[in-house]
Amino acid sequence: MQTKTIFLAAVVASATMLAQDAPRREQALLEDLALANRIIARQLDILDIQGHVTARSRTNPNTYYIARFVSPGGASVSDFIENTLESVPVDGPRTDQAREIYLHGEIYKARPDVMVVVHAHTPEFVSFGMSSVPLWDGDQQVPVWDIRPFNRGRSGIVNTPALGKAMAEKMGKAPAVLLWGHGIALGAASLSEAVHAVDALRDTAQLQQAVIAIGGTWKPEPKPRADRNAVDRAWEFHTRVELKRTGGRVPQSAAATPTRPADAARGASHDVMLANRILTGELGILDSFGHVSVRHPSNPNAFFMAISVAPGAVTAGDVREWTLGQTGGSGRVEIHDEIYRANPQVRAILFARTPEVMAFARGAPALRPIVNGGSFITATAPQFRGDGYILTAGSLYNLVDRAYQLRQNAIIQRQTMALRGSVAYLNEKPAEPVSPNEPQAPAPTGPAEGRSWIYWSQNVALD
Ligand SMILES: [Zn+2]
Repeated sequence: MQTKTIFLAAVVASATMLAQDAPRREQALLEDLALANRIIARQLDILDIQGHVTARSRTNPNTYYIARFVSPGGASVSDFIENTLESVPVDGPRTDQAREIYLHGEIYKARPDVMVVVHAHTPEFVSFGMSSVPLWDGDQQVPVWDIRPFNRGRSGIVNTPALGKAMAEKMGKAPAVLLWGHGIALGAASLSEAVHAVDALRDTAQLQQAVIAIGGTWKPEPKPRADRNAVDRAWEFHTRVELKRTGGRVPQSAAATPTRPADAARGASHDVMLANRILTGELGILDSFGHVSVRHPSNPNAFFMAISVAPGAVTAGDVREWTLGQTGGSGRVEIHDEIYRANPQVRAILFARTPEVMAFARGAPALRPIVNGGSFITATAPQFRGDGYILTAGSLYNLVDRAYQLRQNAIIQRQTMALRGSVAYLNEKPAEPVSPNEPQAPAPTGPAEGRSWIYWSQNVALD
């Protein structure tokens, strides 16, 4: 009798320990997941400001974790939301989910072997998806999923369960699938394997591009099996580098959003200083001759722009308020003055000479939208003038985002053309307009600045 009681007590105790263990095991998973997002974004430069890495729960194979709508390079443990495979949050409704949840949920549903999903918009992957030249993963072609037949002829993101399902079907049992005009979805059995696999695939994509660019022909060969020890060593190395940046611990909560003056005009002036710094240091879009401005938030006849200082060195004291028509006819300020006067809807202006974009002014082919992020080019193409281009937008935040997306589009278009196959563009076929009754994931709510601006301004170096 006593033996039985002791035995039962032991069973109860170990069950309790297991229950207590569960959150700890998930804590370790979430820390590794935050690290994987940061590593693939910051060290490998494969995830852009909008990609995501997700992981299936280790305690419940029917749920997975995805970060709320933040940039992956800044992901922290508390950002992760636990979703069912239907992409419904386990702990109640959220308004800050990424719209591409179904891309992840439907792969986990279709592929019990997949524990981690990486979704990225890396130029190399997009370029092979838009070229008739295939991307080889060893001796297998990476399948390309064309969203248009499932989306009334439109390009776009995977923002409905039906689109996620169609994409997962195209992926089948392959390690990855290229998404037309968009990027890639890749599945792996663990976070370390995901980091290794996506890095290796991007490497071979770059190598295949290089061979074709110098006039060679890529000869597919069977892929050697990944060396387990090498995969572990790489993960160890990357996590060590990442932890060095964050003081030895995985960030448990999101970094503070940098403070901004509450006064609207001072806030706008502050944003111009930040935009100069972000576009120079973080993004490398402005060289020392570029300039950026924003219209005054309450006086449409004025705008803020820095005096003649290299953009990377602009301080708050260098930003001046200029009145339209009274800028003194000095060259650089005059350009902004003219555009604001002629276009009342324009609220922010950039002048830059980014070589990747300028190539399309000097060469014969025109810049055309080839990736979702560049779809604005159809309506708001950059205006080429002499040695630079002008880009405009309805807000400074949107302008900086567009400057980034424009360069990404230019890089992808160049890479796709260099593959020497036939090239597809987003606007090559007319598509049905979106009807208000169509089901799709709602846009997440969040700060007006948007996640890219917040992420970039957290990283910008101010002296
Ligand atoms: Zn995407």
